[in-house]
Amino acid sequence: MNQTRDFHYLSGSMVLTCKRPIKFFYFCHMPLSILLDTFQAIPPKRIALLKKECGIETVGDLLQYYPFRYVDRTRFYKINEISEDLPYIQLIGKIDNIRLQGVKPKQRLTARLSDSSGSIELVWFQGIKYVQENIRSGAEYVVFGKPTLFQQSWNIPHPELELYSPEKLKLAQRLQPVYPGTDALRRARFESKAFSILISQLLQKCRGQINETLPDEIRQMLHLIPLEDAFRLIHAPGSPEDLQKAELRLKFEELFFLQLRLLQLNKINKSAIKGFPFIKIGNYFNDFYKNHLPFELTGAQKRVLKEIRADVAQPIQMNRLIQGDVGSGKTIVAFMSMLMAIDNDYQACLMAPTEILAQQHYNGLKDLASAVGLNIGILTGSVKKKDRRPLHAALKSGEMHILVGTHALLEDEVQFKNLGLVVIDEQHRFGVAQRARLWAKNTLPPHVLIMSATPIPRTLAMTLYGDLDISVIDELPPGRKPIKTTHVFEQDRHRVLAFIKDQIALGRQVYVVYPLIEESEQMDYKNLMDGFNHLTDYFPTPKYHLSIVHGRLPAADKEFEMQRFVKHQTNIMVATTVIEVGVNVPNASVMIIESAERFGLSQLHQLRGRVGRGADQSYCILMTGFKLSREARTRMETMVETNDGFKIAEVDLMLRGPGDLQGTQQSGNLDLKIADISRDSQLLSYCRELASRVLENDPELSLEIHRPIFEKLEFLKQKQQNWGRIS
Ligand code: ADP
Ligand code: MG
Repeated sequence: MNQTRDFHYLSGSMVLTCKRPIKFFYFCHMPLSILLDTFQAIPPKRIALLKKECGIETVGDLLQYYPFRYVDRTRFYKINEISEDLPYIQLIGKIDNIRLQGVKPKQRLTARLSDSSGSIELVWFQGIKYVQENIRSGAEYVVFGKPTLFQQSWNIPHPELELYSPEKLKLAQRLQPVYPGTDALRRARFESKAFSILISQLLQKCRGQINETLPDEIRQMLHLIPLEDAFRLIHAPGSPEDLQKAELRLKFEELFFLQLRLLQLNKINKSAIKGFPFIKIGNYFNDFYKNHLPFELTGAQKRVLKEIRADVAQPIQMNRLIQGDVGSGKTIVAFMSMLMAIDNDYQACLMAPTEILAQQHYNGLKDLASAVGLNIGILTGSVKKKDRRPLHAALKSGEMHILVGTHALLEDEVQFKNLGLVVIDEQHRFGVAQRARLWAKNTLPPHVLIMSATPIPRTLAMTLYGDLDISVIDELPPGRKPIKTTHVFEQDRHRVLAFIKDQIALGRQVYVVYPLIEESEQMDYKNLMDGFNHLTDYFPTPKYHLSIVHGRLPAADKEFEMQRFVKHQTNIMVATTVIEVGVNVPNASVMIIESAERFGLSQLHQLRGRVGRGADQSYCILMTGFKLSREARTRMETMVETNDGFKIAEVDLMLRGPGDLQGTQQSGNLDLKIADISRDSQLLSYCRELASRVLENDPELSLEIHRPIFEKLEFLKQKQQNWGRIS
């Protein structure tokens, strides 16, 4: 195959020749054990340990075992300079007074380190025998470690020791990498320094053999150093500037290839997976649109519907995520998409993560569906066997058009006549395997529409859901008043209670939400019940009525209590976060969140979204103790400041990093070792752009100039066989 064509990166064009396929050897892929004999320093047992503890198997794995920080080894401290907030430091002093203290198994070894300014205790809890055998009392050492305050005095636990010699010091004057370790590694005395030595030997060994993964043109355009240099410098930077260059190159490496993979996957999804085309817009849709639409759609809703329409008209499976803040009106969009399916003789289903939510959706959709004469059913875990049989039959015969439910939908007995569209609410609660089961419910996979009320920043969305198409409903239905949020300390509870009373007098309803965290479940239930009892005292019957809903209630009781609140038979709903998602009671205008400091930002935002759904002014009151961590304070301030879910998501991402963000469970797939989606979001966007430009010009990466990129991607594919689909 020979091919010549113009190619543009930025400007100008190059004429390139292409030769494929190729065979290549990827050095980074080589198992460490093959290099074994060349390393005196690393016996097989250690290799096994590295694999077990750090997942390091190949040369590439070891090279990508990056230091998590660096210590400026040019700086020496005096003992009397030790203070709080010091990172790892180094001291020079004489060691003496080595003593074994305590009794087994709680023994520890201590030693005194003294310099001209004072003395400090060094202490070991593990590997005592080894230290005892090797440490020389009376000798001068360079001591390296993190000073810790214990019972009012400073000590350094598990310091690194090196006999002091002025010549050696000169050699070591640079940034010293610190590698993450584990207990097992420490016990085997494989610590930071051992990594350092091993990696430098490895780099020695592979000099000139690490495949460059970027074309020179791209490297030069972005001033990126060669990959091999980057590995060398990240593990042994001569200066902070070196470090920066290495970091940039390696971050780029991760993000650029990640984006390339995602874009390729997205393309495969779009081109290779056949789906049912919904050819026409028919009677159901038109009837509903003309005669039964309960309100004018917002511009954003119309736009998203058009995007969905364009997708489902193709004989290709749709995989679309609708992102929209709570209350932005995703349900009606989902329903109208279902009508598109039904108009083309397909069935639709909606999966929700909890029974309450499934029930809510069912209640909401029931009226819409019956308005146009469609049959809709609900299937959850608590539907009795005998009630299931007619349901199953109606699905099989096609008599039932829409099925709403929980995971119960996935069961094998649930068979559709012709399932064409699956709507998934709050997708992050469904696993990949579960979604795969849904796919198997028809000869071709049904179109998939995922609704997420967890707004995530664009950069993260395009990375996490790189293989999904994303629609955003970024406009709230008109007439909504922004929710007023305040932060109140426990001490002022009486004011809050008085406020609740006023609101109830105005005919409004109130939520009071308590945290329920698994680790402190007993205590949390106690708080919930105490709070409930306190509120019942303050709001006595018969004037007031309270509901309570929590995870320990049987489903039927939960539903009963919810319904009482929905029907306005109760004024206050006391609950745990079971009401977090989706519950819709427009008359509820106050959301009190107890111990708000214990909730994450996205959860707070979700909870707040339960109010502000009607025409009345709504309020969210965040109750906290007086003492707050800085982070908790930021969370409260952010909530008070803004109602914008996307802004909140940005802050959340900054505070917690992407790993903990709701909706990002799949981030394990990203396998990022040095780049950080939130901090490096600009670089990420840039990589995305560049990656799509490259693929646009050369979809198969068959141009000679892209050979290194092609090779690296092949390597990644081999390494991540199970990368598969993340949607
Ligand atoms: P969410 O996106 O959180 O799922 P819902 O679909 O539950 O939001 O909609 C929230 C509320 O707003 C519902 O009561 C719904 O009927 C109403 N709603 C949705 N779209 C509009 C609109 N275009 N105009 C007025 N009200 C709307
Ligand atoms: Mg909803």
